[in-house]
Amino acid sequence: MKRSRTGAGADGGTVDVLGVGFGPANLALAIALAEQPERRRDVLFLEKRDRFAWHPGMLLPGTSMQISFLKDLVTQRNQVSPYSFVAYLGARGRLVDFVNRATLTPERAEFADYLGWVAENFADDVRYGEEVVDIRRSPDGPRFLVTHAGPDGTERVTGARSVVVARGLRPVMPGWAGAHADSGRVFHNIELLPRLAALEPRLPRGAEGARILVLGGGQSAAEVALHLHDLGAAVDLAFHGFGLGEVDESPFVNQVFDPQVVDEFDAAPPAVREELLRRHGNTNYAAVEHALTAELYARWYRESVTGPRRLRVHRTSEVVSAERSAGGGVDVTVRRTTTGEQWSTAFDAVVCATGFEPGSLTGLAGVAPAGSDVRVSRQHRAVVDGHEIEGLYLQGADVPGHGLGATLLSNVAIRAGEIVSALEKEESP
Ligand SMILES: Cc1cc2nc3c(=O)[nH]c(=O)nc-3n(C[C@H](O)[C@H](O)[C@H](O)COP(=O)(O)OP(=O)(O)OC[C@H]3O[C@@H](n4cnc5c(N)ncnc54)[C@H](O)[C@@H]3O)c2cc1C
Repeated sequence: MKRSRTGAGADGGTVDVLGVGFGPANLALAIALAEQPERRRDVLFLEKRDRFAWHPGMLLPGTSMQISFLKDLVTQRNQVSPYSFVAYLGARGRLVDFVNRATLTPERAEFADYLGWVAENFADDVRYGEEVVDIRRSPDGPRFLVTHAGPDGTERVTGARSVVVARGLRPVMPGWAGAHADSGRVFHNIELLPRLAALEPRLPRGAEGARILVLGGGQSAAEVALHLHDLGAAVDLAFHGFGLGEVDESPFVNQVFDPQVVDEFDAAPPAVREELLRRHGNTNYAAVEHALTAELYARWYRESVTGPRRLRVHRTSEVVSAERSAGGGVDVTVRRTTTGEQWSTAFDAVVCATGFEPGSLTGLAGVAPAGSDVRVSRQHRAVVDGHEIEGLYLQGADVPGHGLGATLLSNVAIRAGEIVSALEKEESP
């Protein structure tokens, strides 16, 4: 079913629509554009990875999606699309076996394979290994000039009538971690698997004999702690809160991710939005699924009965200092905020499951100089310092304006359709 829409994107050329990033958000857009065959556009996506991948550093064995497969790239918008998760299951010959699993949430590895299958269908519309380093408005010709750097660092410029930026999330690291950036011993959880693979040969007994500090109290921290414990490591899990909070999975609360809620959110007074984000943040942020919390607690308790202790959990804790240790690891001092008590230990590695922030337009100074206030209009156009920029669309960047689903998969199908409608309006004479 591989298809080519345009063959566009020659160096120095001009396209109608240029997508920055080729993750799920812009994959959904590629589908929505392709499903409008009466409108022929030159389309090009630029993706900095050298091939399609979806959070490969966190494809931990057995981890599941936190969203129904019916919120795939297309089904919410078009139930008869050939790019649905169900179509993928059919193509892979697993539909019947999947049905017998009797759950709406596939494992993460399977969903990543689905996304890769869709991406393969759009291979002619994407150039991998191309990082967009700037976007600026053009005084004449195409509306935007997009500068991108290839694998050899050579920069090229492509003109575009419209640009859709979907750069996903950027990892947030604690300030002290900067001093360890090149050590290979302190890293963000989003890089877990490749970093562990690089570190293991440097440890006398590999991961099994390692002692690793995991920082954070959310789903990622819990998944990482469990994975490292499975590998045989001694794991210290430290977080600011009193305990690991649980994800709110109530169906009524989950309506906060419904597509039409974006309108309700958009219309609400800012103070009400803020209150809703605060009240329902635990649908996704800094919260852990019940089954995972229960498993961690069971292991922690079992070790109190049988020993030896390999899982240590440190509540109300913060890192005070982290120094390179003589043995090559990291000497970390942690403070208990409730008691003021401090302890220090040499760790082989520190995994910072310390969250993310939207990639937004950060660093793309031609359209958003450093320090600009970047928001997103209801039509998904970038609003920089209060000015809506015609032709520049931004996906997954505005939680305060678009609600808790903005950075998630919840609305990618509907949002892609809305962007295509907005493009259409802009194109009309
Ligand atoms: C481990 C993990 C699990 C998750 N699980 C779920 C889940 O179960 N359900 C859910 O709803 N959400 C989940 N999320 C949230 C996640 O944000 C979405 O799943 C999804 O990845 C959002 O798609 P996206 O296209 O906006 O961003 P991304 O998937 O991050 O894709 C953005 C792409 O843009 C590329 N890029 C960035 N900057 C540039 C540039 N300057 N030039 C070119 N390319 C660039 C990146 O390389 C990347 O491929 C999860 C997140 C993580 C980290």
